[in-house]
Amino acid sequence: MTNDEVRTTKYEPVIGLEVHCQLLTKTKLFCGCETKFGAEPNSHTCPVCLGWPGSLPVLNEEALRLGIKIGLALNCEISGRLKFDRKNYFYPDLPKAYQISQYDMPVNGKGWIEIEQRAESREQRENQNPMPSALCSMAKRVGITRAHLEEDAGKLLHEGIKDGSLVDYNRAGTPLLEIVSEPDIRSAEEAYDYLTSLKAILEYLEVSDCNMEEGSLRCDANVSVRPVGQEKFGTRTEIKNLNSFKAVQKAIEYEIKRQVEMIEAGEKVSQETRLWNDDTGKTALMRSKEQAHDYRYFPEPDLVPFSIAQEFIEGLRKNLPELPQARTNRFTKDFGLSPYDAAVLVQEKKLGDYFEACVKEKANSKLASNWIQSELLALLNTAKKTIEESPVTPQALAGLLRLIDNNTISGKIAKDVLPLMFETGKSADAIVKEKGLEQVTDTKLIEEIADKVIAANPKSVADFKSGKTTALGFLVGQLMKETKGKANPKLANEILSKKLASLKKISK
Ligand SMILES: [Zn+2]
Repeated sequence: MTNDEVRTTKYEPVIGLEVHCQLLTKTKLFCGCETKFGAEPNSHTCPVCLGWPGSLPVLNEEALRLGIKIGLALNCEISGRLKFDRKNYFYPDLPKAYQISQYDMPVNGKGWIEIEQRAESREQRENQNPMPSALCSMAKRVGITRAHLEEDAGKLLHEGIKDGSLVDYNRAGTPLLEIVSEPDIRSAEEAYDYLTSLKAILEYLEVSDCNMEEGSLRCDANVSVRPVGQEKFGTRTEIKNLNSFKAVQKAIEYEIKRQVEMIEAGEKVSQETRLWNDDTGKTALMRSKEQAHDYRYFPEPDLVPFSIAQEFIEGLRKNLPELPQARTNRFTKDFGLSPYDAAVLVQEKKLGDYFEACVKEKANSKLASNWIQSELLALLNTAKKTIEESPVTPQALAGLLRLIDNNTISGKIAKDVLPLMFETGKSADAIVKEKGLEQVTDTKLIEEIADKVIAANPKSVADFKSGKTTALGFLVGQLMKETKGKANPKLANEILSKKLASLKKISK
């Protein structure tokens, strides 16, 4: 057995993820300081978020509202009774030497999300070879343990500083919701799928800008392995410093391999926190893992436990927007898309919006789905633009697709028109007229050209007569070339076949 086979047949990975999501509030969790990213260091601070003695925290109601909205979308139990606790640890980016978090009475209790398992098909897609959709869309439920509110720490700056480090407290006190998953995830790909599904939900809720570069979405992974069939979990390690979903996937893959190799060599995995290094592609020991009791949690005396009225929670539930899962179902039902195509369009809210706007302009929905996912996204990728920055509006794309749908141009010609629209901002109509690209459906004209092609290619005609049917393809190609690709391909094929068949008869 190869090492890879040992890993996949003898051991099963067990993965849980902790996602910190920065809530999109104007002000911090317990004070009125602004949360704006990129401000001058320490310009958004006050006695509360700097932890001055005698200052008192006051809970930000908007943060609570956003936190509950997420809980509702993640199907969490929400008792409405909550408490804040102090989590004690000494670290220079934490001015109070404790963090206000939630320990045993979190705002959101147990829940779950459904994830689309599309890892395999995603790779196929990247290789431009999409799999039939029925084979690759499978839903799996991943449990949520809890999702609690807590304040963020400040930021230490080490780079470019010779002696010591600098600290910026602008981020200290920024509201976070920590979303802890159950250890239900079984592979690095599944972790990736979980994160994409979760991010989509957060984007639809408009509760966070989900910007990983700016740290508004951060993820830690707990990874262990156990022999297949064993119920007891193995010893887990926690991986930090994961700056992208791809990094999460790669780090988990590395960690699974590392742990299996240790066990196979008779060594013991120890419970520890490890840092992922994207450059080396490895994890390295950071510190031995703390236990909950290391943090000496105790109730935050400055914020008493309190209850939220059920009407408040129900009001939020009623006003939840349409979520990705529901939208995917609607796209398959109303627009006849495959579950796979629907999920791809829905994953990014703006992409789904673009598609809907396109269909609203009377574009054929399946054509629109295909063209957005292949041609348009390819152009955007090359130009390094997002769907929102697309020079081709949904209305303009619909204009192009209508021309294909009503046979004014062929799909092949349309592939040349779209890049011109992208470059010039002109409408499909204008470009087609300007360049004279309308499809030739005039039977008489095609017949004339077919005669010309037959006369000019006696060898292929002879081949065809002697039974080489592939010669037809060549002659159709010549006809298309004569018309600069504008002849209706179906008509061209029909007319040439008919002519060649009659020639064959004559020669007999
Ligand atoms: Zn403050």
